[in-house]
Amino acid sequence: MRRRIVAGNWKMNGSKDLSEELVGYVRSEAGSLDNGVEVVIIPPAIYIGNVLDHARGVVSVGIQNVGQWQSGAYTGEVSPDMAKDAGCRYVLVGHSERRQIFGETDELVAEKVSLVVSSGLAAIVCVGETLEERESGQAESVVAGQVRAGLASVSQEKWHNIVVAYEPVWAIGTGKTATSDDAQAMHAAIRGVLKDMGAPAEEISLLYGGSVKADNAAALFSEPDIDGGLIGGASLVAKEFMRICRSFPAAT
Ligand code: PEP
Repeated sequence: MRRRIVAGNWKMNGSKDLSEELVGYVRSEAGSLDNGVEVVIIPPAIYIGNVLDHARGVVSVGIQNVGQWQSGAYTGEVSPDMAKDAGCRYVLVGHSERRQIFGETDELVAEKVSLVVSSGLAAIVCVGETLEERESGQAESVVAGQVRAGLASVSQEKWHNIVVAYEPVWAIGTGKTATSDDAQAMHAAIRGVLKDMGAPAEEISLLYGGSVKADNAAALFSEPDIDGGLIGGASLVAKEFMRICRSFPAAT
């Protein structure tokens, strides 16, 4: 069965104090979740050690970005091997903010994905269309293209290290969420593309991201192809984040 995952992307927010308070609270609550959700926190890289100290193995930890090299003269970069060594389990790759602000292309995403999975980490690969692309009827073809290109280098034995997060760009940080029907339709399409690529599509977790809150999470998570969420703003509010984690029904 595929994993249920709720991952909180702090973006460039947080502090040592937040790491202690929020992660301490999430750890104390996550231990009693009965719905099989893996709770993941993805803080700015500089706080990964603090978050790991408070996560104590109950909450998984990820990094928001890595470079496309393992070591060398790349001032300011952090490699997948370093993220693994530090205790991370997940790496976000190709978040729309990286694509839009830092110019990351599908080719660069593919390079990073390849390095991340060869380090033994799981890549959460983000895809999603802009408002313009959705309004001009291209959403599905844009997302399919991102999935094919970004995952082009994944070898058969590494698919179990891949998670895909569908995040429509127009829904990120805007308070607008895709309807459950639209999100489900895109997730089903992504699963179809993965199948076409020869991946074990039914075993790959697909997350929805884009203004997920405690009051819309349950509807999204009840869809058959939505296996969890990538949460931005709401992951910075401990109680709201845990309400989202509880939005799956109990595991059967
Ligand atoms: C994100 O950063 O991936 C995200 C989905 O943000 P938000 O939940 O704030 O829309």
